[in-house]
Amino acid sequence: MKTKLFNLDYFKAMKTNFLNRPSVIHDPPHVLENIVLGDPIPAKHFRLDVDHDGIAWLVFDTLKSSANIWNEETLREFNHHLEAVEHDTRVKALVLKSAKERIFVAGADIKLIRNLPHVRVNDLIWLGQAVFDRLARLRVPKIAAIHGACMGGGFEVALACDWRIASDHPSTKIGLPETQLGILPAWGGSTRLPRLIGIRKALDLIAGGKLLNAEAAKRAGLVSHVVAAENLDTLARRLARVRRPHLRFRFENLFSWFIGRTAKRKVLEKTRGLYPSVTKAVDVVSHAVHGDIDNGLLLEREAVAELIKSREASRLIDLFFKREEANKRPAATGTAIPIHDAVVIGAGVMGSGIAHTLASRGVRVLMTDVTNDSLARGLERIHGLVSEATRRRLVTRVKGRDTLDRISTTPVPVPLNRHHLVIEAATETMELKKKIFADLAGRVANDTILATNTSALSVAELARTVPNPERVIGLHFFNPVHRMPLVEVITLPETSPDVLATAITFVQKLGKTPVVVKDSPGFLVNRILIPYLMEAVRLHDSGIPVNDIDEAMLKFGMPMGPMRLLDEIGLDVAAHVAKSLAHAFPDRFPHTDALDRLVAAGHFGKKTGQGFYRYKDGREILPDVHYDLPRHESIQTNLALLISQEAMRCLKEGIARSADDIDLAMVLGTGYPPFRGGPITFARDTGIIDY
Ligand code: NAD
Repeated sequence: MKTKLFNLDYFKAMKTNFLNRPSVIHDPPHVLENIVLGDPIPAKHFRLDVDHDGIAWLVFDTLKSSANIWNEETLREFNHHLEAVEHDTRVKALVLKSAKERIFVAGADIKLIRNLPHVRVNDLIWLGQAVFDRLARLRVPKIAAIHGACMGGGFEVALACDWRIASDHPSTKIGLPETQLGILPAWGGSTRLPRLIGIRKALDLIAGGKLLNAEAAKRAGLVSHVVAAENLDTLARRLARVRRPHLRFRFENLFSWFIGRTAKRKVLEKTRGLYPSVTKAVDVVSHAVHGDIDNGLLLEREAVAELIKSREASRLIDLFFKREEANKRPAATGTAIPIHDAVVIGAGVMGSGIAHTLASRGVRVLMTDVTNDSLARGLERIHGLVSEATRRRLVTRVKGRDTLDRISTTPVPVPLNRHHLVIEAATETMELKKKIFADLAGRVANDTILATNTSALSVAELARTVPNPERVIGLHFFNPVHRMPLVEVITLPETSPDVLATAITFVQKLGKTPVVVKDSPGFLVNRILIPYLMEAVRLHDSGIPVNDIDEAMLKFGMPMGPMRLLDEIGLDVAAHVAKSLAHAFPDRFPHTDALDRLVAAGHFGKKTGQGFYRYKDGREILPDVHYDLPRHESIQTNLALLISQEAMRCLKEGIARSADDIDLAMVLGTGYPPFRGGPITFARDTGIIDY
C-alpha cells in the first residue's frame, strides 16, 4: 500500500483536538481589562515624539537601568503610548528604538517571573500578548530599529512590527532564548516567527534558543536590512514611506505536522526528554502556525502556564541568575586595574587558546615558548580559530585580523616590565613551572600579576619561588578555551585584594565566568569530577560495559558519558590527576590501576586511537552495543551521588565561596545537567544527601 506523506484528515483531527482542549486559563484576567480601560500614566520609560513627517519615534529608555526590560509597568506605559499613536491623526508611521547603548530590549523581567506567583505570571503573559497585538494591529507601518541585544520579549515586540532592521554592531544579538530558561516564547514569538521565516528555521531557532548576530539574523530572515548604527534612523525614515511588506506564503508551513513530528523526534533523541520546554515549543510552533493569530496566542499561554510551574524552569532560571551574578559581581574588596597587555608563557593547546581569547577581547599579547617551532604551531592554532570564526561569520574579517595583529611572539627571554599580567601555561611539571616563576621574578615589574593555568599543581608552592607571593594567583581556563565559559580563579591566603579584584574583572572582561576557589588539590571542578570518573572506571573494571555506564549518565543529562570523557581528556592525563588527588585524599580517592594498565599498553584514549573506545581517523568505531537497561538507574544513582557528595565536601571545606558557585562551576566546567541546577541543588532537591 502506498503511504501518503501528508495525511490531511489526520492533520485536521490532530489540530482540532489540540485547539479544543480545555484552556488552562479560563477568564481574561483583570490586567486585560485595565489595558483597555486604564487611566493614562506618566511617561517614565519611553519618549514619544512625532516629527514633521508624521513619524512617531517611540524610544524605550527604562528609568534608572542600563537595560530595557518588559515588566508590568513598562508594558502598561508602552500600551499607553500605542493608544496615543492610535488617536493621533498626524502619525503616518511608528519607529520603535532604544536609547540604551548596547540593548534594544533584553526581554521580560526574569526576576519578576521568578518571584511572582504563577497566576500573576499568567496575567503578565496576557498583558504582553495584548499589548503586542495592539502594536501589530496599528493601522500605520511599524518599524523596529534594532541596535543591541534584542532577545525574547525584545524580539517578540519587533515581530509585531512590519519591518525589522538592525545595526551591524557586535552588541546586536537577536533571538528567542526562552527554552534555555525552561519556558517558551509566549508573547507571540512562537506564533509569528514561523509565519515570518517558515517553520523549519523557526523551530531551529526556538528549540535551540539561539541568538544570532545581525548578519546571521538577516540571512535567517529575522531582519530585512543591516546597516551601521548611525544609519538606522535614515533607513527607518525611508521604510516609513514605502509599502508595508507582506508575509510571504511559506509552502513548508502546510507540512507543519510532518516537520514538527520529525523535529520532535530529533529533539527527544538529543534531550532524552529531559527538557520538556523544548518539546513543548516544537508542539506549539507546529500548531500555532495555522489558523488565526489568536489561536496561536492561546496555545502559547497554555503551554507557558504549564511550563512555568516545572522544576526545570525553576532550576534554569535560578542558574541564569547565578551566572549573571558571577559575571557582574565585583571582588568584595580591592581595586581592579585594567589590563591591556599580557604575556602568555607556553604556546601549546592552552597557551595558544588563552592568547587567542585575550587578543579577541582587545588585549595585546606576547606569547613565548622555548622554540620557534612551538610558537609556529601555536600561531597556526590561533589562525585556525580565527578563520573558523570568520568562516562562520561570528566575527568580521577585520576583527579577525585585529585579533591576529594583537599577538606577538618571542622564543627568547625579553624584559616584561611593561606588562601587568603574565599567564603561565607551560608543560605541567612543578620543576619547570618553578623555574619559570623564579626567572619571571627578575624580568617583570614589581606590580605584575603572575598567574598560572596549572590543572593540578599547588599554586602556593609556585608562589614560594617569587619574592612577592601576594601577586601570584591561579587562572584555570578550561579546554577548549574559546568555548568553555568557566575560569577558576585560585587564591592563596596571601593573595592581595587588588590582585584578586583585577583577576576577577579581567576574566569578566574576557566574557567568561569567574568562580573564586581556594588553592587545594584539584581546585574545585577536577576535584569533584575525578571521584566520579574513577568510580566509572572501577565499575567498568568490575565487568560493566562502557556503553552501559555512558548511557546511564547520558540519561542523567550529562553531555558525554564518563568513559568517553576520559578518552577525550587522555587516560595519561586523567591517571596523573587522579594519582595526585589520591595522594592528597587517600581515604576517599581509592586508586584503581585499570587506568595505569591501559596507559602502560599505550592506550591513551582518542589521541592514540584506543582508550575505553576504539577510534579510526579520529572517529569512534562503534562497539557492539548491548544495553542492560535495568542497570542504568543504579549506575546513575551511584555516580550522581558521588558528584554531589564531593561537591558538599568542597562547600564544607570552604573551597568555593558558596553552594551557588559550586553549582555554577560544575554546570559551566563539566556540562553537569543545567536543568538539575548543579550537584548541590540536585542533592537538596532529591534528598540524597543531608543538606
Ligand atoms: P602543551 O603540552 O600543549 O603545551 C605546553 C607548552 O609549553 C609547549 O608548547 C612547550 O613547548 C611549552 N614550554 C615548555 N617549557 C617552556 C618554557 N620554559 N617556557 C615557555 N614554554 C614552555 O600543554 P597544555 O595542554 O597547553 O597545558 C599547559 C598547561 O595548562 C598545563 O599546566 C596544564 O596542566 C594546563 N591545563 C591543561 C588543560 C588541557 O586540557 N590541556 C586544561 C586546563 C589546564
